[in-house]
Amino acid sequence: MTPTAFEALPLAAPLHRVLRELEYTTPSPIQAQAIPLLLQGRDLLGCAQTGTGKTAGFALPILQALHENPRQVRPKGCRTLVLAPTRELAAQVGKSFTTYGKYVRFSQTLVYGGVGQVPQVNAMRRGVDVLVATPGRLLDLIDQRHIDLSQVEFFVLDEVDRMLDMGFLRDVKRIVSLLPAKRQSLFFSATLAPSIVDLARTILRDPSHVSITPETTTAEKIDQQVCFLAREGKRPLLEQLLRAQSNAAGQKLTIVFSRTKHGANKLAKSLCASGFPADAIHGNKSQAQREKALDRFKKGLTPVLVATDVAARGVDVKDVGLVINFDLPNEPEAYVHRIGRTARAGAEGRAVSFCSEDELEYLREIEKIIKMPIPRWDAHEWHIESLADRHTRGKSFASATAKPSGNGGRGRSRSRRR
Ligand code: AMP
Repeated sequence: MTPTAFEALPLAAPLHRVLRELEYTTPSPIQAQAIPLLLQGRDLLGCAQTGTGKTAGFALPILQALHENPRQVRPKGCRTLVLAPTRELAAQVGKSFTTYGKYVRFSQTLVYGGVGQVPQVNAMRRGVDVLVATPGRLLDLIDQRHIDLSQVEFFVLDEVDRMLDMGFLRDVKRIVSLLPAKRQSLFFSATLAPSIVDLARTILRDPSHVSITPETTTAEKIDQQVCFLAREGKRPLLEQLLRAQSNAAGQKLTIVFSRTKHGANKLAKSLCASGFPADAIHGNKSQAQREKALDRFKKGLTPVLVATDVAARGVDVKDVGLVINFDLPNEPEAYVHRIGRTARAGAEGRAVSFCSEDELEYLREIEKIIKMPIPRWDAHEWHIESLADRHTRGKSFASATAKPSGNGGRGRSRSRRR
């Protein structure tokens, strides 16, 4: 099957021009499916993760409409509203609009929490073509009458699954209730659980449905592995992997996932102390701190980023060659999002997950949703065969103590402290 070229899509000249500059020649599968439907004015239900090119999939048709039909927006209003779950994702989407809309005349602003509201209020005063917002701050500014949604023509809900995980369902419903009935709505989620489909039904009108990655499978280009080990083995194995990564050719950046904010801080600190420049990003950090950390990470100044799930959403960094799940996520969908931080934009990537005794159940849930066993990686000195065995046999309640084995009894814990 020959993929369509961008040139074949009926996009306006300023968009073709920027795509040529970006050297995007072939639309990704979601772009190839979604762009023609959106240009026809259809509502869309898209099942796709980040990394599939979905942002251009919705930004290009919206920019095309703004270009073809320029219109003065009334004060405090917006023609396009994109709702995103986190400020990082909102910033990422905003950046994509700026990139793809380089030759289109349009105005844009971002509205999210964690920073002062005054610049956001000022930016909204005259109205904008594109508003990218997180739900909480958006409602705050609506309640204070600084934003009015009655002129919205395009409504995009991005990463809805994450939005619901973060408890935004009521906020989303309230925001939808403030939109005009006549609008084009786009709804994206990495998973389509029944509750998500139910919500989509209340928002979309006769939607076209596009599904890129079957909702629960993981990106094919990612080399996934799981290591069975004791908690104390995690730190030294992490160091070993980071050392190998820093000596490897090519993509050197690594994201390490921690389940808690406190754990992320502690880990980043102790990695720094051991000579691995690392930074942590999580929900307790200010926007400025997060941006600084991300910037240093992108530049390779701190090639290790320790992150929690929420903070890592929207992190779109091309050179992430390795994702390490220092802790397995207790909600299996997060695994798909986490490992999707590597192998971005066609690159290859590796994802190594650490599984200790208390995480066997999480691993089982993850393998259920990705519908495949994650290949084992035993060739390290902290491997615990009995744990791997328990996992294989599916005996979550076996009482066998985890003893090092399978490598000549060298599976001792060597971590000094965590
Ligand atoms: P997204 O899924 O929207 O976060 O996009 C993932 C990455 O793919 C971003 O870095 C985009 O710049 C890049 N990208 C999107 N569409 C294309 C394309 N058609 N060709 C090459 N790169 C793309």
